[in-house]
Amino acid sequence: MPTARTWLERIRKLPLPGTVRVMNVCGGHERSITMAGLRGALPPRIELIPGPGCPVCVCPEEDIYAAIRLARREGFIVVAFGDMLRVPCNAPRAEPRSLEQAKAAGGDVRPVSSPQEALVIAHANPEKQVVFFAAGFETTTAPVAGLVARGSIDGLPSNFSILLSGRLTWPAVAMLLDSDTPGFDALVAPGHVSTVMGPEQWAFVVEKHGIPAAVAGFRTESLLAAFYSVLRQVIEQRPFLDNCYSAVAKPGGNPTAQAVLNQVMDVTDANWRGIGVIPGSGFTLKAEWGGLDARVRFDIRPDEDRKRAGEMPPGCDCARVVLGKIYPNQCALFGRACTPRNPIGPCMVSDEGACRIWWASGVREPVVADVGAGHTRDVFEISEETEKSRPRAAPTASESPARPPPASIKKNQ
Ligand code: SF4
Repeated sequence: MPTARTWLERIRKLPLPGTVRVMNVCGGHERSITMAGLRGALPPRIELIPGPGCPVCVCPEEDIYAAIRLARREGFIVVAFGDMLRVPCNAPRAEPRSLEQAKAAGGDVRPVSSPQEALVIAHANPEKQVVFFAAGFETTTAPVAGLVARGSIDGLPSNFSILLSGRLTWPAVAMLLDSDTPGFDALVAPGHVSTVMGPEQWAFVVEKHGIPAAVAGFRTESLLAAFYSVLRQVIEQRPFLDNCYSAVAKPGGNPTAQAVLNQVMDVTDANWRGIGVIPGSGFTLKAEWGGLDARVRFDIRPDEDRKRAGEMPPGCDCARVVLGKIYPNQCALFGRACTPRNPIGPCMVSDEGACRIWWASGVREPVVADVGAGHTRDVFEISEETEKSRPRAAPTASESPARPPPASIKKNQ
């Protein structure tokens, strides 16, 4: 199986027609790309653009504000995945602006790493209302649906409810592609989402838009195999959906996970922070599970909360970062007003946020350059010291080479 080094050599030999912009839509991909130093290792005409891959970054202000308000209520415990606790919203200055601040102000806020942990807290605190603030993409929402589905058999504690902020990944990509300026020439699709929903979910990128696409895992060689595949597709003008994560992302995905999602959730239009409403991009609990829905149980009014929580903090460019319109360090606040210690926007908080990932890799200075202008190396400046000390991913066996198109999704041949 080809190693990462072999894939790199193959990519370097490709006769690229010009700048090729490859978007990823997965925080895990962006972290692997950045930490392995792939931007510096690939030819400069290949631009690797982080896109909408961070569910915490797109969680709307009104949901965060609702969670903060619940946490401040007497007799309530709000539990959430850890990186959500520090995500700020633009609440009035006299009020806590994050769950962490709500906790400092006396609220009972607890980090969890799984839905089951939230349930354990509910069982252990029967005298309190335990609200599970669940923000995430398909891979995170499916276990929440599983918990609810199992609860219909085993029973869930009456003091347990869910403030759901689940999102589907592909509609954000569809929205970009339906716009006049999608901003990328090829897509590397998320392997973990494909594992749940099936790689075929990304066929529309090729079939409707004629854009090369490949599903990739998190390892360097899987990502490089996907880059090689989409670049070759660009050169040959023969787009198809490649699966470079075939050992894990099987055709059809995970039917059990999809069944519980369909059983428990409806797909509805949903607000994305700083971006607006994207049709068919949100999960909500079906009406029959309304008793578990914290919005129903505690009369949460998103429109009113939105007015109180406000928009993105002034100067924060997270929406454009999330949509791949600018690189993280093109935000004027990057590294100045906004750092992981003092985050202004969600992209600097979450482990899957592009600003946080770039900062963690050693990028420090804001740089002004345009996405798509062939400036990746200039934009992605890393201090010499950091560059020397940065761990490099060791080349290992590839999970899958690029392969010819499946007959069902051949196009433009
Ligand atoms: S650097 Fe901070 S303020 Fe700017 S886009 Fe990133 S998170 Fe938002």
